[in-house]
Amino acid sequence: MIRLILLLVIVFTNVTPPSAIIRDEGAATVIDPFITTQTAAMRPDRVADLTREPWDRYTMRVQLDPSGPRLSGDITVQLTNQTEAEFDTIWFHLYPNHPDFGGRLDVTSALIDGVPVPSRTLHGDTLIGLSTPQAIAPGQRTTVTMTFTARGPRNASQRIFGAYNLEAGVWSIASFYPMLARYIPGIGWDTRPIVARGDFTVSAIALYDVTIAAPADWQLVTSGSRLAYQTTGDGGQISRFVSGPQREFYLAALQGLVAASAEVDGTRVVSYVQPDDPAAAERSLAIATAALRAFNQRFGAYPYAELEVIQAALTQFYGMEYPGVVLIEQSLYRRDDRLLETTIAHEISHQWWYGLVGNDAQGEAWLDEGLASYSQILYYEMIGVPEQARAELDAFRAVYRRLRERGGDAPLATPPSGLSDGRYVPVVYAKGALFFHALRQRIGEEAFNAFLQGYVAAASYREIAGPDLLRAAEQACACELDDLFTDWVITANEVTIP
Ligand SMILES: [Zn+2]
Repeated sequence: MIRLILLLVIVFTNVTPPSAIIRDEGAATVIDPFITTQTAAMRPDRVADLTREPWDRYTMRVQLDPSGPRLSGDITVQLTNQTEAEFDTIWFHLYPNHPDFGGRLDVTSALIDGVPVPSRTLHGDTLIGLSTPQAIAPGQRTTVTMTFTARGPRNASQRIFGAYNLEAGVWSIASFYPMLARYIPGIGWDTRPIVARGDFTVSAIALYDVTIAAPADWQLVTSGSRLAYQTTGDGGQISRFVSGPQREFYLAALQGLVAASAEVDGTRVVSYVQPDDPAAAERSLAIATAALRAFNQRFGAYPYAELEVIQAALTQFYGMEYPGVVLIEQSLYRRDDRLLETTIAHEISHQWWYGLVGNDAQGEAWLDEGLASYSQILYYEMIGVPEQARAELDAFRAVYRRLRERGGDAPLATPPSGLSDGRYVPVVYAKGALFFHALRQRIGEEAFNAFLQGYVAAASYREIAGPDLLRAAEQACACELDDLFTDWVITANEVTIP
């Protein structure tokens, strides 16, 4: 995400036909149709990623009614207990019930392995716990089935989270379904209340197979790739999407927007804009393709078949990242500075820092936001605009310097809940970006590049914490970085601003 405060300082289908995925299970060779179907969401050379882990599997059917706007659906989650503990409750996030979403998500029935189960909710209905009929043992698989309804606000981006809202032709329906909470080894289910500062969702990688019914004049954009499309006699459409391994499943329905598309390294990139300035679709597509090309080269390849950029009414922030989709505030398309470009680059970098390499955004937000902010600088270097890379860096230095002048410095490891009084953006984004610059100066260009590539290769589809990043950097430089990490991340020792 990029929040508004940065304004003050920045001066300026091509679906591959599924090929069968064959998995070796001991002596037997298994063809898994769920996995085989998922290949449509992957870049052809990354199909093998689908066999890496036993990810949880979501199958959903959703009916959209933009006149509400509201939706209803059913969801089946096949999950494996990959912990050492028995589960007597399975927890799901119901994000739209948070006041910032201004909407509602209600679970209307719940079964575990076919048995109706009782439930309870927590923190203003933002979490629902389903009691298991009998304990789910480590290694055991189980199937949760629920029906749900949801509704959202309209034209409400001035007062609520614009990514869950229908406005300016975009019904953005982020986090609209019951989303499995993470189970943290040694701690238990992640049932913390949501901190509204920063990004909301913290979830594990899963595979999604989603069938959506909607009026035919609404265009569906999702985290996945479309497998099938048909119109129905009554002016409707039914579309089926698969996601590949993604951190959540984002969904938007668009009406009247125009699109431009291109292909980069085997990924189809689509830019959707409002119809009053169709040339903006090509402008934002050019930025998105440049960013994807640059980051593929610098970080390692984006593994999915599609990436979409949507002009949306976010109003209170510049951009928001979802797996496979980024939302960009509509007004940025009308400016004559580089803010649209910076924002698109930042949000696309989140496909690596948040999407592929996960972290606890509610605990260690600097891990993804700091590196996404530093990716703005890497982007301008890569496309050959070094003066803008310097301007971005100078802007972060100025924000961090002002924070220190007012006595607001804090360790990067401070959770967002501890960063009140306007300190969230200066610490997480500005100081976060500067940490990566300090790291780069310390270990040199070659080791820094090895760190970026090695970090993505080792941590893709996983969730990492601060010490994992330290280890990846130390491995790349074959050196000790404890002092640097302590000064920037663990303590608020006065560091030299790089
Ligand atoms: Zn961000």
